[in-house]
Amino acid sequence: MKDLPITDNHIHVDPVNGDGPLEVAKKFQKAGGTVMIIPNKPTWTMGESYNLQETMEEVIKYVQEINENVDVKAFAVVGAHPAELSRLIKEGISLDKAEEMMKDALQDAQKLVLEGKAIAIGEIGRPHYEASSEEMEVHNRLMLRALELARDADCAVQLHTESSGEKQFREFAEMAEKAGISKHRVVKHFSGPFVLEEENHGLTPSLIATKKVIVQGLKKGTNFLMETDYLDMKTRPGAVLGPKTVPRRTRGLIQNGILTVEDAHKIHVDNVERVYGIELP
Ligand SMILES: [Zn+2]
Repeated sequence: MKDLPITDNHIHVDPVNGDGPLEVAKKFQKAGGTVMIIPNKPTWTMGESYNLQETMEEVIKYVQEINENVDVKAFAVVGAHPAELSRLIKEGISLDKAEEMMKDALQDAQKLVLEGKAIAIGEIGRPHYEASSEEMEVHNRLMLRALELARDADCAVQLHTESSGEKQFREFAEMAEKAGISKHRVVKHFSGPFVLEEENHGLTPSLIATKKVIVQGLKKGTNFLMETDYLDMKTRPGAVLGPKTVPRRTRGLIQNGILTVEDAHKIHVDNVERVYGIELP
């Protein structure tokens, strides 16, 4: 159990508003974590006038910093968060123009994956808040576009969406089918315990690592990933789970006999390798 690999599938690092890549990685590593999958944060967390492309470049730098300085393997996930579209519209940019900017960013995300600098496109998807039907149409088109780009790059996608159950999973699975991407490569970030195939329709749920969700998930199987969605923001310390949560949760569940070492290996290594098409150390 000492050498058990442990992956946080969605953890942010933010040197502007939080502790930054090295401090977060050190905390994660000290708690027993070994692999961090890090999506870029939205532009407005970066400070003045950052564009969509620059935030993707930044997360790639953070990942390099971690890999060079901390005994943790970090991977970047790059994309344009759905809230970026809403933000552009609020700034007075037309819906058409905003859609073009988002599309360009997704194209650039794919390029970074093809260059080997990132392992997946994300987080992309739909807002978790109300939006006009015109805006929602654009979100859905962008989501499909991202899935197609991922299909062409042979990579995974991390979805950020409204809170989702079986019905939404079915809709996303249909979009994946339309785009021609393998459904298991479409990861629903911040998921509840929708581990059964009839609940997730072949998509991979990334379970939020509260005790309740993980224990419920384990009752149904091991076909899932684990994440904190840690934001690394000093102003919102309790907004989500802390960076030590996935290692601690995993070890705790093993100690309590709820999770076996073999099943932990499946969740933290086999599933990660299969979804992202990578090999873990
Ligand atoms: Zn996130």
